[in-house]
Amino acid sequence: MAVMEIITEGDSRLRQKASKVRKVDDDVRKLAADMMETVENTPYAIALAAPQVGVLRRVIVVSLPAEEPEEVEEGEEPEGPVRLMLANPEVIRSTGQQTGIEGCLSIPGWIGEVKRAMHVTVRARDMEDKEVRVKAHGFLARALQHEIDHLDGILFVDRIEDRETLRYEPFEDEEEVEGETENVVAPETIGQANQRSD
Ligand code: ZN
Repeated sequence: MAVMEIITEGDSRLRQKASKVRKVDDDVRKLAADMMETVENTPYAIALAAPQVGVLRRVIVVSLPAEEPEEVEEGEEPEGPVRLMLANPEVIRSTGQQTGIEGCLSIPGWIGEVKRAMHVTVRARDMEDKEVRVKAHGFLARALQHEIDHLDGILFVDRIEDRETLRYEPFEDEEEVEGETENVVAPETIGQANQRSD
């Protein structure tokens, strides 16, 4: 497995439509495993779509830490930890609405408010090439919608309705402010990832 380089806005591959995976074979499994390793070794990363590593195939991965008790909405079950590797994911059902802050590894430092469906059902192929359905709500539903957008060349900034909410807030600055990092979605691998030489 290998950590892959994440391409950033301005690279035309982020604006292309990725092609369907015909069969989940060893190539696809290796791609997904490398993408997962990339997510789990990149600070604040929780998900990735293949076009973000320059591969125009319909593959996404998600690695969410378990939801903290205080993040759980009343009446909802806590989510996570969630680890998904999916080929050809598509939203086949979406209901409700949520508005929240999003960022993207391919647009480093920029965040903004995006409206998404609150609940989604995603149909996809798993790494055994079997059809699966993933039901998600809240943050996981948001992550899935964001990543599936990438497969169609859509970036979160395209979905921002109020440009006033778009702002530059690099994580490095936030890390320096002690005690102010609770709201940042961070995987447990940050220390490890900071040791990367690039
Ligand atoms: Zn993104």
